[in-house]
Amino acid sequence: MRKTIIAGNWKMNKTVAETKATLSELKELTNGVEGVEIVIGAPFTALESAVKTVEGSNVAIAAQNMHPKDSGAYTGEISPVMLKEIGVKYVILGHSERREYFHESNAFINEKVKAALAHDLIPILCIGEKLEERESGKTSEVNEKQIREGLAGLTPEEAVKVVVAYEPVWAIGTGKTATPEMAEETHKEIRDVLIAMFGAEAASEMTIQYGGSMNAKNAAELLAMENIDGGLVGGASLDAPTFIQVIKAGA
Ligand code: 13P
Repeated sequence: MRKTIIAGNWKMNKTVAETKATLSELKELTNGVEGVEIVIGAPFTALESAVKTVEGSNVAIAAQNMHPKDSGAYTGEISPVMLKEIGVKYVILGHSERREYFHESNAFINEKVKAALAHDLIPILCIGEKLEERESGKTSEVNEKQIREGLAGLTPEEAVKVVVAYEPVWAIGTGKTATPEMAEETHKEIRDVLIAMFGAEAASEMTIQYGGSMNAKNAAELLAMENIDGGLVGGASLDAPTFIQVIKAGA
């Protein structure tokens, strides 16, 4: 059976001091919580202290981006080797904010996914359509292209290690969530693409998270849907007492 994974994406929020404070609180609150994998995506500067703060708990740490190369002349970039060295377990790749503001292509994201797997980091591949794409009936086409190109060249054995996060861009930070039925319809389509690419067995093991204004109020009904296996949570993950409610909705 596939894992339920509730991940927080802190984006460009929290200093080292704030990271330590929130994670110490979260560590306490998640004590004894079972049946759900808990992940926090902290900013690069806070990753090392984040890993140390959650030691001995069931919270894992994610980076929010990564360069595909091990090292080299790529000013300002961070490599998978560097993330592994400090104990990072997951890496969020292809977030819509990176696609939009930093012009990341599916091909570049695919290189990152492969590099993450080669270094034993778990990639969380983000996909999702924009509002105008949904309104013009292109949702399935856009998501299929992002999955096919983002996961190109992977074997089924590699694919089962990947987490897919479906984040409709129009729902991110807007307070507009997809209804559980709308989200489930797209998650089912995503699962069908994964079945076509990797076979039914591998696809049934892959966690597909929903992201976009997920919060303590709507998480339970979204997570109750058959093909929604977790969440990638922005705003509602910044505060530990709020985020624990989302986590418990998935436990
Ligand atoms: P919000 O939960 O703030 O809408 O952000 C979602 C997101 O982009 C997580 O990666």
